[in-house]
Amino acid sequence: QCVAVCPTGALTERDYTWKVIEALVDPQKTVVVQTAPAVRAALGEAFGMEPGTLVTGKMVSALKKLGFDYVFDTDFAADLTIMEEGTEFLDRLTRYLDGDKSVKLPILTSCCPAWVKFFEHQFPEMIDIPSTAKSPQQMFGAIAKSYFAKKLNKKREDLVVVSVMPCLAKKYECTREEFAINGDADVNVSITTRELARLIRNANIDFASLDDEDFDQPLGESTGAGVIFGTTGGVIEAAVRTAYELHTGKHLEKVEFEELRGMEGLRKATVDFDGMKLNIGIAHGLGNARKLLEDVRAGKSEFHAIEIMACPGGCIGGGGQPYHHGNVDILKKRQKAIYREDAGKAIRKSHENPFIQELYSEFLGRPLSDLSHELLHTHYFNRKKLSEIE
Ligand code: SF4
Repeated sequence: QCVAVCPTGALTERDYTWKVIEALVDPQKTVVVQTAPAVRAALGEAFGMEPGTLVTGKMVSALKKLGFDYVFDTDFAADLTIMEEGTEFLDRLTRYLDGDKSVKLPILTSCCPAWVKFFEHQFPEMIDIPSTAKSPQQMFGAIAKSYFAKKLNKKREDLVVVSVMPCLAKKYECTREEFAINGDADVNVSITTRELARLIRNANIDFASLDDEDFDQPLGESTGAGVIFGTTGGVIEAAVRTAYELHTGKHLEKVEFEELRGMEGLRKATVDFDGMKLNIGIAHGLGNARKLLEDVRAGKSEFHAIEIMACPGGCIGGGGQPYHHGNVDILKKRQKAIYREDAGKAIRKSHENPFIQELYSEFLGRPLSDLSHELLHTHYFNRKKLSEIE
């Protein structure tokens, strides 16, 4: 099946709103929706609001009015991604510094499916370098259909998981075979921010006049670290907040890492882990990513960790968002909105999310446990080799 994977929206996406409606009217199904961090910073634009207007509460309210049984937050799964990816990074870093020659650095973030597809085709000899952590969308699906289904006393097939994403590549990601069990995908339908706006309009919901509502629990609670996944530099900043405390055992006083923020396509920063200097690279846009990867391939990379996102600005500039027509000011306003939401959160480090702690104590055990590996980690394919065989 051919589906759109264009990260910038240059190709027309498939409209899956009919699949959502089909699920919502099926009385046999429990329909669960998750919303990605960047959606709340741009959805308002589809209803004439200023770029950078945060509409988190109205978005939740609209989704409840549309009839979803549970309205959850992908930010929860972003916190979970940090638990797994941050632990994996520290494990690799420690072994590397101890002289283990089998360990490779830098570790590369793996939450952007357009970027994952890119390296599978373009840098297949490096598929053992990215983190094995699934993206937040896919972690959410795996947890919803195991842990949460069990809490509801239902089978995984009784649940339909819908995602609202800023992204066209996420439609492709949830069709990858490794993200399904016996043909039942962990995430059944992915729609974009624009498709959600269409659903709201078609249901005659007056979005602007909606009251704010809260996400449902337990998969709706998130920290500021989960929120900043929506912008370039945010994934690595979230990882640093947790990795710092896990590594040093010390309380991190200031959680904002200004040196990791910005809008330049290629950025680098050194973060001090209590005497240990970590070199971090950040790229958004695949042309910029290629530059960093050529250095890694040539053995010239100075970095311990690299964050890569395919879209300009990261997910705030995703191909499924209201069109920004390359206007960087709009992206900057969305970015500010994301940082505002982070600053307003009571908890801003992923490992302090009480529902994440509960998930580990009740179900997963610990990060990188056997069950965590089974549900939350993945593997990559050498797509160059596959196309040669075909
Ligand atoms: Fe999708 Fe975000 Fe990657 Fe763009 S940067 S392709 S929106 S995951």
